[in-house]
Amino acid sequence: MVKVYYNGDVNESALQGKKVAIIGYGSQGHAHALNSKESGVDVIVGVRKGGSFDKAVADGHQVFTVAEAVEQADLVMVLLPDEQQAKVYQEEIKPGLKAGNALVFAHGFNVHFSQIVPPADVDVFLVAPKGPGHLVRRTYEDGAGVPGLFAIHQDVTGTAKDVALAYAKAIGSTRGGVLETTFKEETETDLFGEQAVLCGGITSLVKAGFETLVEAGYQPEIAYFECLHEAKLIIDLMYEGGLANMRYSISDTAQWGDFVSGPRVIDARVKESMKAVLTDIQTGKFAYDWILENQANRPQFNAINNNENAHLIEEVGQKLRAMMPFVKRQEKEAVNAGA
Ligand code: NAD
Ligand code: MG
Ligand code: MG
Ligand code: MG
Ligand code: MG
Ligand code: MG
Repeated sequence: MVKVYYNGDVNESALQGKKVAIIGYGSQGHAHALNSKESGVDVIVGVRKGGSFDKAVADGHQVFTVAEAVEQADLVMVLLPDEQQAKVYQEEIKPGLKAGNALVFAHGFNVHFSQIVPPADVDVFLVAPKGPGHLVRRTYEDGAGVPGLFAIHQDVTGTAKDVALAYAKAIGSTRGGVLETTFKEETETDLFGEQAVLCGGITSLVKAGFETLVEAGYQPEIAYFECLHEAKLIIDLMYEGGLANMRYSISDTAQWGDFVSGPRVIDARVKESMKAVLTDIQTGKFAYDWILENQANRPQFNAINNNENAHLIEEVGQKLRAMMPFVKRQEKEAVNAGA
């Protein structure tokens, strides 16, 4: 088994006397800033003017422009949208980095795909919680934490690993367990997971099941409960105790159906498709297409998003959820955050 780092493995003094600038105050940014502040870290926030800036002020932080925050900081945590990072880095982060500073990420995309090439005289590492930002915050408040990864890209000070682990502890991740990885492994596995399983895989599976039932003449409301609503309840059982725990809880009829029909649906062709998705990630094709899509102001992203939002499953779901006030909608960012 690989080494998993917990609270007791961390040299907390590695962050003492260091000023940490959280750049961006969205899904991850607000969680990192609030958690690390409550863990006793000297934290400031750097973000553009607007909603996030006002929210960070309202949450009690010292808030600056990105350039001002970088100027003051020893450790700069970049929690901007991946597709914005290269531009903001060139214009507002790079000019303020000093020798011996740490440039830190929560996802390896820009460094791994060479969109950001850091100067040789700073530490570069990532600390990536394996969960949505709003859960990084909520679990910390509950005394728990979202597990995470860290990876060292450059270690000029000789302290990068200690500081990375101290940071992971400050945001609560070493309560859940932290593993060491590389920028390449974190980037490729994170993109694959969200595309093939967590976000792309699950939404496509849920929609295909819903459409199959509706096209066969069954009531859309029943198809919604069966294919979407109940998915959360099943996933919770897997989260708590693995596949066996979920199968223990369901009927033996359901378990038999799982065994005989699951592999018919998610068959060898699906795995072949997953391998093709992974290849596009590994070769940089996915990254290249996404970078160009952003440069073109997202014509495909926006068109697909509009079509998806107009799907019958969303219409039916909105009505049914309105009758279930206990199903609280999380903050908007948490919804698109697998991510
Ligand atoms: P987000 O979209 O929720 O928030 C981005 C923040 O950056 C916002 O506060 C926004 O106002 C600010 N911002 C955007 N453009 C800016 C600019 N030009 N100048 C200054 N500020 C600007 O982003 P996120 O989902 O938290 O993602 C941040 C990083 O964390 C990414 O690298 C992502 O891959 C990684 N990550 C995210 C999640 C998640 O739960 N969303 C999980 C793991 C890793
Ligand atoms: Mg059932
Ligand atoms: Mg059972
Ligand atoms: Mg987001
Ligand atoms: Mg992820
Ligand atoms: Mg991701």
